[in-house]
Amino acid sequence: MTDFQSLGLSNILLRAVESEGYTTPTPVQEQSIPPLLEGRDVLGVAQTGTGKTAAFALPVLQIMNRQKPQGKRFIRALVLSPTRELAAQIDERFAAYSEHMDLRHRVIFGGVNQNPQVRALQKGLDILVATPGRLLDLIGQGHLDITRVEFFVLDEADRMLDMGFIRDIEKVIKLLPKRRQNLLFSATMPKSIAKLAGTFLHNAVMVDVSPKEMTVDRIQQKIMFLRKADKRRLLVQLIKDERVQRGIVFTRTKHGANRLVKQLDQSNISAAAIHGNKSQGARTKALAGFKDGNIPILVATDIASRGIDVDGITHVFNYDLPNEPESYVHRIGRTARAGKSGIAYAFCDDSESGYLVGIQQLIGKEIPVLSNHPFHFIGAIPKPGQKPGKVKDKSGTKKRPRNQNQNQQSRGNSQRNSSSQKRGNRSGGQRNNNQSRGQGDSGSRRNRNNSQR
Ligand code: AMP
Repeated sequence: MTDFQSLGLSNILLRAVESEGYTTPTPVQEQSIPPLLEGRDVLGVAQTGTGKTAAFALPVLQIMNRQKPQGKRFIRALVLSPTRELAAQIDERFAAYSEHMDLRHRVIFGGVNQNPQVRALQKGLDILVATPGRLLDLIGQGHLDITRVEFFVLDEADRMLDMGFIRDIEKVIKLLPKRRQNLLFSATMPKSIAKLAGTFLHNAVMVDVSPKEMTVDRIQQKIMFLRKADKRRLLVQLIKDERVQRGIVFTRTKHGANRLVKQLDQSNISAAAIHGNKSQGARTKALAGFKDGNIPILVATDIASRGIDVDGITHVFNYDLPNEPESYVHRIGRTARAGKSGIAYAFCDDSESGYLVGIQQLIGKEIPVLSNHPFHFIGAIPKPGQKPGKVKDKSGTKKRPRNQNQNQQSRGNSQRNSSSQKRGNRSGGQRNNNQSRGQGDSGSRRNRNNSQR
């Protein structure tokens, strides 16, 4: 078994990972750290929960600490993240790993007063973690200079594109100096990401840790068929019967999340909602209450949940099935993190059976059915030969879910490998590991959601 020492990390970082309680590198760390220490670009296919933050933060810190320029500090590492929560968590990780180093880091994001951020920038920083909107705002106002960046990390690139950040990313890349080391991490590798990677990665090492191998196998998945009107009662029953101490419930809409929190409260279950309409203060408070164990249930929408990095989540409830199959994989990945196991329940009513078909095609298997509950409803079970549910886009027109061909792709390994090989070539990446997910192209282009900036 590999240990952190054999990856070439310095003593100061070995002490840091030890004090975090990490004993063994995760696969993404094992495969990314050595090439990054050699100065290579890395294209990582890994989702949150795989240990990818340490995979990029540790080598970046090591190189930065080794070669310290004289004079006033300037931004040498720039990490772009799609959401405030994820950005804050990345910054927290930098804080933990760089505790004994003379490197200054800071996170900036929108939705809060910019003045403290500007003051921190004026004092001088080495590492900046940012969401794209606020970064460009502050550059535009002349508070921020990224022309001397040596390390550029684009995290959760697929989600960035889904959230409509592509133009912002392109603008940022144009402002960066030509000579720099690049890292791109993405949970999936649709063509759009491979194309983006091809525009700025050079001779990159490709590291692919499929969620299927990483987490999904450790998650016990269950599907329960029922009527919409019975969902709340079943949820309350499960939370109480299983004495859930730390669980996330996913709803499709913000309004649905708010309503469910009130309903759970009426059943004496303490819950908090987290979604894009909540103020930053409310989101931080909800997350803090959930992390310290005072609030056992977090009710979240998909976008807001991205990057929630809380250990020990035992239960994920898909109260509404997501209409994009990939969201299901992201959702259930909130549990079974860092080697632990977890349980993911999915409720399916008669309007959602098409979504279930799409999800099962994506994950390449049928989710075991739990019918032994008082609300079981056979009318919600997909009909034989039923087609994947249609995804409504913003204009109200319907389109096929982006992964409807996944089934065919996941049937044959050779087919999968050859398609992923093509992707690797397109992006200039050199494969380090051929565990491919065989992902379809990203279909959705959501409008930029300012509340996420
Ligand atoms: P990430 O994928 O970066 O969001 O990390 C997920 C969680 O795994 C975080 O809580 C990390 O602190 C934790 N973690 C990262 N690397 C390791 C490791 N090698 N061993 C145990 N836990 C880890």
